[in-house]
Amino acid sequence: MVTGNQNKAPRSPPAKRRGTAVDVSLDKRGKIGAGRTTGRQPLVEANHKKDVSGTSDMEGAKASENAGVVFGKEEVEALLNEVLKLKKLDAKGNMQLMADYSKRLKLGLKWSFQEQEKLQTELESSRKKCVDTETEMERKVLDLNSFLLNLKNENAALDEKLAKESSEKLDALNLHRLEKEARVVAERFQASLSEDLENIRNEKLAADKQVISLSETYKRLQEYNTSLQQYNSKLQTDLSAVNESLTKVEKEKLTVVENLSTLRGHYNSLHEQLISSRASLDEAVNQKKSLEDEVKCLREELQKVREDRDRQIVQVQGLTADILRRKEVTEKSIIDLENLAAKSQALQERCSSQAEQICVLHHQLATANDKLKMTDLSVIESKSKHEEYEKTISELRSNLADMEQQLINGEKLRKKLHNTILELKGNIRVFCRVRPSLPDDGVASEVIVSYPTATESLGRGIDLIQSGQKYPFTFDKVFNHEASQEDVFLEISQLVQSALDGYKVCIFAYGQTGSGKTYTMMGKPDRRGLIPRSLEQIFQTSQALTAQGWKYKLQASMLEIYNETIRDLLLPKSSNMMDVVRNESGVAGRQYAIKHDSDGNTHVSDLTLVDVCSVREISSLLEQASQSRSVGKTQMNEQSSRSHFVFTLRIFGVNESTEQQVQGVLNLIDLAGSERLSRSGATGDRLKETQSINKSLSALADVIFALAKKEDHVPFRNSKLTYLLQPCLGGDSKTLMFVNISPESSSSGESLCSLRFAARVNACEIGIPRRQTAMRPLDSRLSYG
Ligand code: ADP
Ligand code: MG
Repeated sequence: MVTGNQNKAPRSPPAKRRGTAVDVSLDKRGKIGAGRTTGRQPLVEANHKKDVSGTSDMEGAKASENAGVVFGKEEVEALLNEVLKLKKLDAKGNMQLMADYSKRLKLGLKWSFQEQEKLQTELESSRKKCVDTETEMERKVLDLNSFLLNLKNENAALDEKLAKESSEKLDALNLHRLEKEARVVAERFQASLSEDLENIRNEKLAADKQVISLSETYKRLQEYNTSLQQYNSKLQTDLSAVNESLTKVEKEKLTVVENLSTLRGHYNSLHEQLISSRASLDEAVNQKKSLEDEVKCLREELQKVREDRDRQIVQVQGLTADILRRKEVTEKSIIDLENLAAKSQALQERCSSQAEQICVLHHQLATANDKLKMTDLSVIESKSKHEEYEKTISELRSNLADMEQQLINGEKLRKKLHNTILELKGNIRVFCRVRPSLPDDGVASEVIVSYPTATESLGRGIDLIQSGQKYPFTFDKVFNHEASQEDVFLEISQLVQSALDGYKVCIFAYGQTGSGKTYTMMGKPDRRGLIPRSLEQIFQTSQALTAQGWKYKLQASMLEIYNETIRDLLLPKSSNMMDVVRNESGVAGRQYAIKHDSDGNTHVSDLTLVDVCSVREISSLLEQASQSRSVGKTQMNEQSSRSHFVFTLRIFGVNESTEQQVQGVLNLIDLAGSERLSRSGATGDRLKETQSINKSLSALADVIFALAKKEDHVPFRNSKLTYLLQPCLGGDSKTLMFVNISPESSSSGESLCSLRFAARVNACEIGIPRRQTAMRPLDSRLSYG
């Protein structure tokens, strides 16, 4: 609420006091607002003081100084109602008045605005409060309504209770009324009885006698009363019982009337009966009360019982749920149990079956043990037999070894005899070797050679098929494509051996380029050819022969005949280069002149001869030769197949004890390719090379055929090769030719030529080889190894 103090406006300037319209308002204010604000009082006093001391102009000036005075509603109204008293001819004063008034108006306005704002905020807060109160009230009304409803319900319950109780009360009242009526009747009856009493008193004396009997009756009645009381107590609410008893009492009274003498006693008894009835009534009421209490108690008990029952029901429900859970669990357990039982049953069955099996197995084991024992016995027997057999086998093996040894010896002897026969025949022996098909030959290339299986030509015959025609050949030995280097060497090892015995041995390989000549003679590092194997054998045998007093000196030389020119393959590279340069520039270099002495030994002038003492040395020499051959090849831009390679090993043996001397020579020659070369189109070096190869090979053929025809003149000097090999070809030496064959059909022409040439060579009888031995001093005795 807005109070006077709260609404204090800025105090109006104290100028408007007297002589102005303001005075009126101030006066009014003094009347209305007096005592309302104490704060304004001092200003009024101050104004008053000013009134006394100053003029109206002075008041205006001072009022402006006293801006900020308290405003009231009344002051504002007074301000609004104020009429300015303007003085004529005093414009300045009027202006002053106007200014003063406007100032005050402003202040009043300001105040009224502030007031308005305050009032608005208060109004809003009061509205809010009002709304709060309304909601509160509504809530309370609701509470009260619910409370009222409860009260109504309770009231209804109480009404019901009241109705019940009133009905009960009515019942009791009815009972009471009946009792009262009975009492009135009894009282009336009592009055009549009192009247009768006088009459009866007279008879009392007479009746005294009967008193005893009456007292007895009284006693009986008492007993009866007791029984009645009992009966009454039994039928508490049943008033009819009381009525009946009353009727009975009336009847009794009648009997008492009838029996005047007994009336007194009867009266007493009746009185007492009445009392007792009352008592019984009281008792009944008490009993009713007690019964009500009992009922109450029973109700409470019932309530308790109900609560108990509810609790128990809840418990029962919980227990039922528990039971259900347990039932489920039990069912599951039963199922599990059943499963387990089934499993256990199955396991038992299995167990029993296994037990049976075990029994069977035991039985089998026993039988097996028996068998084992038997077997052991038989094993022992067979062991002894086995030992016997082993003995026999070892004996047989030793016999077999002996036989094999004998066989080897026999074979050796056969070979030796065969060699001897051949030597005696004086033929050039010819071995044919067919190389396997090479991957370069092509898969489709047809093999054109076959080997006859007839006994007489087994291992010696070869058939060449060309244009569907078969050309059969027979040589001393034919090696098919499966023959290994070792197989080949085994066949010539005897020949090599004879070089150590002092023979001149010459083995050369003939055939077209690529037919396997170099492979046969030199071989590969892992499949060594005849030259390294022969040298190895010679070293081994020479060492073995030292035990018999033999000492050997071995000299090796290697040369190449290319274009009828001899190249020393054991010369240092630089020397060879020099020779080439010299020869090309016409300057006489190394001549390599071939000379044969009277003993049939060949010498090549300027040719390097290297003394060799071990296989290793020979290997390094062969390496050197192959290298210098490849150097020559690149220098001359030629292939190794365009030159003849001649390896010569001279063997000098002396037996210290027997003073025997031997001088053998082993020539191993890898000839140039035997293929016929077309002369057409070949010019310069190529023509010369072709010519020289053709010349040397045809010279070889000529020599061989001349020897075969036993012509007087054998043209050894026609070529360097034939001249070099003259002592070997000339009949003193053991000569062997390998004819190498390419098996593919594209080479069939060359193969046929080679085979034909080899066959002719094979037919040549060049004479019996002669062993070159001597005794110190020289002995012309010949010894046959
Ligand atoms: P040639 O010296 O007659 O021109 P090669 O000895 O150089 O021929 O042989 C030609 C090719 O055939 C080589 O690669 C060689 O290894 C192979 N060759 C020759 N003969 C045999 C053989 N008996 N077994 C396996 N390969 C062979
Ligand atoms: Mg070759």
